[in-house]
Amino acid sequence: RAKLDGRNNYAFYTESMTKQAVEQLKLQTALHHALANEDFYLVYQPKLTLKDLSPCGFEALIRWHDPILGDISPAEFIPLAEKIGLIWDIGLWVLKTACLQGVEWLTQGKTFERISVNVASLQMQRNDFVDKVRQVLLETGLPTKHLELEVTESCMMHNPEAIIHDLKLLGAMGIALSIDDFGTGYSSLNYLKRLPIDKLKIDQSFVGDIPHDVNNTAIAKAVIALGHALNLQIIAEGVETEEQAEFLRRNGCDLAQGYLYSRPRLSDALTEFLPLVNGIK
Ligand code: C2E
Ligand code: MG
Ligand code: MG
Ligand code: MG
Repeated sequence: RAKLDGRNNYAFYTESMTKQAVEQLKLQTALHHALANEDFYLVYQPKLTLKDLSPCGFEALIRWHDPILGDISPAEFIPLAEKIGLIWDIGLWVLKTACLQGVEWLTQGKTFERISVNVASLQMQRNDFVDKVRQVLLETGLPTKHLELEVTESCMMHNPEAIIHDLKLLGAMGIALSIDDFGTGYSSLNYLKRLPIDKLKIDQSFVGDIPHDVNNTAIAKAVIALGHALNLQIIAEGVETEEQAEFLRRNGCDLAQGYLYSRPRLSDALTEFLPLVNGIK
């Protein structure tokens, strides 16, 4: 189409394409360096039990601050890391760092149920994924009962039998498993019933405008009912208002996380969500 608009437009079009390609390349190069330079860090977002608002764990979320490019969102660089083959190393770094943080909290007498770590589909595709997780748990010393992995429906797109097999192994180790962004990806109820998972996460795109949007409200209710019928716990992500929380609570949703309770924070800023073993905050 650009070509038909005439010479100048064509030139403009290719120029902007080149610019975009250059930006991508810069980002790629920076991403390659970020691991070695320790430009990544983790923040943690509390998860709460809806009925009494007791804290029950955290989701670890990666952050990247590049000295030149500034802060780059994981929504941008995680897909890029998948594309250029860096997700495996980044994923391992996240897992190790989160496990070490968990051990540190436990050593300090702080209690939490689980730390959740996001797992990209491409990590799950590797046949040494389960071994690596086992190794990281051994090396860091985090008891398996304190780890949860968040996988997405898209991990079932290739070789679902192998994925189901691996998830079963991870579950048998005592790791909790949840399906992240549930309802936004490749969903198959047939797989869902066979997956050895513990929780469904209602995607924030369905949570944002409940109870006002009739469709999303219906979807949120249906996911809760479906999950409970399959003996799964339901967690809502992206809870921002009291109204959303109240609706979810009334409709039996088990857990929640979102800005209403806390933004993702650095580990030092989580004291109120980490009760001490002796019960004093
Ligand atoms: P996700 O796993 O679904 O994580 C939830 C995202 O929603 C996070 O964005 C979180 O900061 C944000 N969020 C939480 N509460 C609220 C809220 O009340 N309102 C709104 N508007 N947003 C909320 P973040 O940290 O930018 O991460 C985006 C996505 O990047 C994640 O979505 C996940 O898919 C991916 N990601 C982040 N960290 C990692 C990681 O360590 N490994 C992998 N593989 N992916 C990651
Ligand atoms: Mg997640
Ligand atoms: Mg999510
Ligand atoms: Mg999401």
